[in-house]
Amino acid sequence: PQLINQIAAGEVIERPASVLKELLENSLDAGATRIEVDIEEGGKRLIRVRDNGRGIHPDDLGLALSRHATSKIASLEDLEQVMSLGFRGEALPSIASVSRLLVQSRTGNSDTGYQVRGDGRETTQAPEPVAHPPGTTIEVRDLFFNVPARRKFLRTENTEQKYLDVVIQRIALSRPDVELTVHKNRKPQYHLRAGNGDSAQLERLRSLLGSAFADQVLRIEHEAAGLRLSGWIAQPTFSRSQADLQFFFVNGRAVRDKLLAHAVRQSFQDVLFHGRHPAFVLFLELDPRMVDVNAHPAKSEVRFRESRLVHDFLFRTLHNVLSDLRP
Ligand code: ADP
Ligand code: MG
Repeated sequence: PQLINQIAAGEVIERPASVLKELLENSLDAGATRIEVDIEEGGKRLIRVRDNGRGIHPDDLGLALSRHATSKIASLEDLEQVMSLGFRGEALPSIASVSRLLVQSRTGNSDTGYQVRGDGRETTQAPEPVAHPPGTTIEVRDLFFNVPARRKFLRTENTEQKYLDVVIQRIALSRPDVELTVHKNRKPQYHLRAGNGDSAQLERLRSLLGSAFADQVLRIEHEAAGLRLSGWIAQPTFSRSQADLQFFFVNGRAVRDKLLAHAVRQSFQDVLFHGRHPAFVLFLELDPRMVDVNAHPAKSEVRFRESRLVHDFLFRTLHNVLSDLRP
């Protein structure tokens, strides 16, 4: 069974950034409004995520490290309209099989916390009491310490940190209502206050992507035929040093999708940004039944039921906005 977990880990857990993504998504699924992240050595030594979410009941704590113990899906219909970020019950057991793991948690109606540890081997253990505020702390040390072939493929601290930064940016951009603190090698990296509406969004753009971008964005908001596009695109005058300023979210989930990328690129090229890469942070919302988020284990790919409709909506919406900008 532990081998199965390690194989699954091969699909879901590629590098420290994949661990961070899964942990942050779990915190959001648990309704956290405040999340603290600690990273050491590009996540290779330590990734710790502490949240103030609803916590894990001690009965479920040992189970959370074993396979398919998701609490989020009860039926196949649920799978059709899944709104939570995680639903496979695969992440924690996978992480547990390839790292030294510590899970501490306390539910709102308990006056003590409990913890379990994993060391890469399959164990069932009774949770032991520990002092902990309501919420959950998950600590992942020495990723792939027991899978040398995978450990060897991890990159330098700087490179792994860049992947981690993208994960943090994506989560932070999609959830300005959640306070986020990040420490990198014990020094503060981000402190993002929680807020709502455009001004909170802009503040996050500024902290995460720089003021050059935040000062030159245009607000987009358009709704038609059950589709809603909102977010920000950079003005033509924006010139950037950062290579990758393209963020796309579908129903709150960061995605990389060829169809969406194509629609955006087409509209920019068509109107005025000929030959340049557009910079944007865009959110597409649609009926969850119109989109399959189950297409890929890491869940960054999506399939649309009516891809033509989505493509055209996106293209036309951006095209209209950009046309108005034309001198
Ligand atoms: P999934 O998110 O797909 O359900 P995971 O392996 O990521 O599976 O997590 C397993 C279960 O552990 C979750 O369904 C949830 O019940 C619990 N869990 C994990 N992290 C947290 C957290 N930060 N707060 C509360 N519960 C959590
Ligand atoms: Mg999860």
